[in-house]
Amino acid sequence: MIPFSPPRIDEETINEVTAALKSGWITTGPRTKLLEQKLAEYCQVPNVLCLNSATAGLELMLRWFGVGEGDEVIIPAYTYAATANVVLHCHAKPVFVDVDDDFNISVEAIKNAITENTKVIMPVDIAGFPCDYNEINSLVRQDEIRAKFRANSENQKKLGRILVLADAAHSIGAEYFSKKSGSLTDISVFSFHAVKNLTTAEGGAVCLNLPKEFDNEDEYKHLCIKSLHGQSKDALAKIKLGNWRYDIVEAGYKFNMTDIQAAIGLVELKRYENDMLVRRKEIFELYKAGFQENEHFIIPKFEDENRKSSYHLFALRIKDINEAQRDEIMEKIFERKVAVNVHFIPLPMMSLYKNLGYKIEDYPNTYKLYSSEISLPVYYNLSNENVQRVINAVVEAYQEVIQ
Ligand SMILES: *Cc1c(COP(=O)(O)O)cnc(C)c1O
Repeated sequence: MIPFSPPRIDEETINEVTAALKSGWITTGPRTKLLEQKLAEYCQVPNVLCLNSATAGLELMLRWFGVGEGDEVIIPAYTYAATANVVLHCHAKPVFVDVDDDFNISVEAIKNAITENTKVIMPVDIAGFPCDYNEINSLVRQDEIRAKFRANSENQKKLGRILVLADAAHSIGAEYFSKKSGSLTDISVFSFHAVKNLTTAEGGAVCLNLPKEFDNEDEYKHLCIKSLHGQSKDALAKIKLGNWRYDIVEAGYKFNMTDIQAAIGLVELKRYENDMLVRRKEIFELYKAGFQENEHFIIPKFEDENRKSSYHLFALRIKDINEAQRDEIMEKIFERKVAVNVHFIPLPMMSLYKNLGYKIEDYPNTYKLYSSEISLPVYYNLSNENVQRVINAVVEAYQEVIQ
């Protein structure tokens, strides 16, 4: 069987995790702090905060910005549930908008969705391909859009406009005008979940790249407290002999990353740019070469003049098929012992969001992409030979279903 995306775990990973265990420091400590520094260097951002998931990072930052009841957060209809669920956790309203043919949020649709209640836009770099951040960043700075913005928290007043909080769960390592994902907007959040390009088993990171009204270092320090029970001193500071007294300054969260997770992340990051990304790109190129001569397939965009993907998902599309045919083709692929997937079932098709009144009919392009999409296996140890097996399985399955 060819699996979909097993993690890359080898001796080096195991040795580093063992070293963390043997060090006696297993919760947030020196390895987490080192990973934060290395990520900040890699992404060229002032500060990075590592947490236990991307979901935690997104929610933490919505709360940091004071998003609550009556507020609206614009997100694509085509994404994973985490993007929208965190908005509901804050008692705010997710405002879904349609996507373009590259799977990313439509800037035109964002424009039409902005109201005086809009507090945040959460673009998602689907499959690792960066959204058009020049467009989105300049949109939120336009005078008439600024004029609509109603600030009702300290940080909202300071920023004076809609916050762009990127769900960069897929896009670590991706580039936009030669700048790395993480540095493309105010705040970006990576996921290090087991199936993501760079993993810590479970984990995530918040990249702070706030404009000059903010001191990113101060915000980082505050967020360390906010993500750990509002406790004025973390475990590492408290371990200093005699330094036992602490205060609780707010009802913070329990979102911290452990050094065991960070140990995995340090190994992953060290070999990410020049090894993991190189191999993923090779696999993408092999798929492209394998499908581009066949008129029935649509190759996902993973590079253009200004953008480079992180090669997270190879979202193949098939022309002129409906959802049921796509499902049948997947069945025939599974019969050939190849694991494929669909990214994503649009949120307006999920019970929770249907019951809240969202309808997939309002997002025609999202539905069009979803119903013709199949994600193919991409992982470090996928051999060229197995890439060819995947291509053959897809082509044969297509022929079996569509004569
Ligand atoms: C994986 C994923 C998340 C959530 O990441 P976690 O680290 O599991 O919380 C959020 N958004 C998208 C688009 C994802 O694919």
